[in-house]
Amino acid sequence: MTYNKKSVEDIDVAGKRVLVRCDFNVPVKDGVITDDKRIVGAMQTINYLIAQGAKVILCSHMGRPHNVLDAELKLDKKEKKKIAELPAEEQEAAAAAALEKGKKDITKLSLKIVADDLAKKGINVTLAKDVVGPDAQAKAAALQNGEVLLLENVRFHAAEEKNDPEFSKALASLAEVYVNDAFGTAHRAHSSTAGVADYLPAVCGYLIQKEIAVMGGALEDPKRPFVAILGGAKVSDKIGVINNLIEKVDTLIIGGGMAYTFFRALGNTTGTSICEEDKLDLARELLAKARAKGVNFLLPVDNVIAREYKEDATFMRIYSDSIPDGWMGLDIGEKTQELYSKTIVGSGTVIWNGPMGVSEWENFASGTKAVAESGAISIIGGGDSAAAVETLGYADKMTHISTGGGASLEFLEGLELPGIACLLDK
Ligand code: AMP
Repeated sequence: MTYNKKSVEDIDVAGKRVLVRCDFNVPVKDGVITDDKRIVGAMQTINYLIAQGAKVILCSHMGRPHNVLDAELKLDKKEKKKIAELPAEEQEAAAAAALEKGKKDITKLSLKIVADDLAKKGINVTLAKDVVGPDAQAKAAALQNGEVLLLENVRFHAAEEKNDPEFSKALASLAEVYVNDAFGTAHRAHSSTAGVADYLPAVCGYLIQKEIAVMGGALEDPKRPFVAILGGAKVSDKIGVINNLIEKVDTLIIGGGMAYTFFRALGNTTGTSICEEDKLDLARELLAKARAKGVNFLLPVDNVIAREYKEDATFMRIYSDSIPDGWMGLDIGEKTQELYSKTIVGSGTVIWNGPMGVSEWENFASGTKAVAESGAISIIGGGDSAAAVETLGYADKMTHISTGGGASLEFLEGLELPGIACLLDK
């Protein structure tokens, strides 16, 4: 999928009310933001709009509110169904408990914490009490040039995730221009990520612009050799990605748990390694497709295997064709690390998604570290691989770490992302 979309710099925003969809879905523990990367990531676009004299209206989701706040707090359909299945005498108490939990969620998932953090970072924002209600409308109308308003959590409304046109229209009515800068939710067609673009001129912010340029650029016009490294637990999660990348890359490197499904498909024994028995035919098809396309398909030549799936399990290194019964592969071995590193170093473009082993555990993190250390141009497709690279301390070595997990996977699958497709073409 190639995108050539207008950005904030291609549209007149001075003096205009600009609705910006950000990804402020930050992790919060005990009332404290534990990682503010997403807020920091949104600041370039916000600061640009302020400098241009726009009236900035920010919106985002946070978490998955248990209940929704439409006109008033009420139970959603799923909740009602669950309660209806209970014995009659328990229903009233269950409904009250669910409503109570909903109220707590709403306080917990308020964007106030984000407003406070933005203020600490030098961006003074007013927080609206609602999303499209009277408070948001009044505060949006009162905005002066260069001022910033933050709407409440868009997912307090069930209509948001349903991409309800009425809700999209209500959001759009607050502004004159729409900017999407939330790459993390760009694969979702929700009101604030896509629906609103039906009613306003829509462009991307700097974050989405960069994702399109780097990931799109690598997929469409890679410097060769083009190498994709895929890891993670399961083949089934990455079928679409493997299928799409086989069409484009020169070399496909496989690591992580998914390697064992390929080994089993090739007739090797894999002990108790994670293996998807129902995906063996598919694995054979992917191997055949790679062969037909002349893609160099690399599987681990050796593995670190363990007795059990435990952080401190006894482990040893073994070649891939001889994994004994009762042992499971939890990382790629040293020989494989050398082979993969050499391949990566000699490449022009590298895209990476998924760790090479159970990198959360020190004894099984060497493979992921070796790949991260190999020092080539690396584009990390968000999610677990991004987290692994950051926790292991290699983030600085990467050219680009995507801000979206699911969205970057869908990008690598070649799927259309509704939150980008809806924006104006250049
Ligand atoms: P994914 O979300 O598909 O990228 O998968 C990431 C997860 O795969 C991480 O939590 C890893 O611990 C897990 N993983 C990687 N290699 C293995 C393996 N050999 N066996 C079991 N789990 C693995």
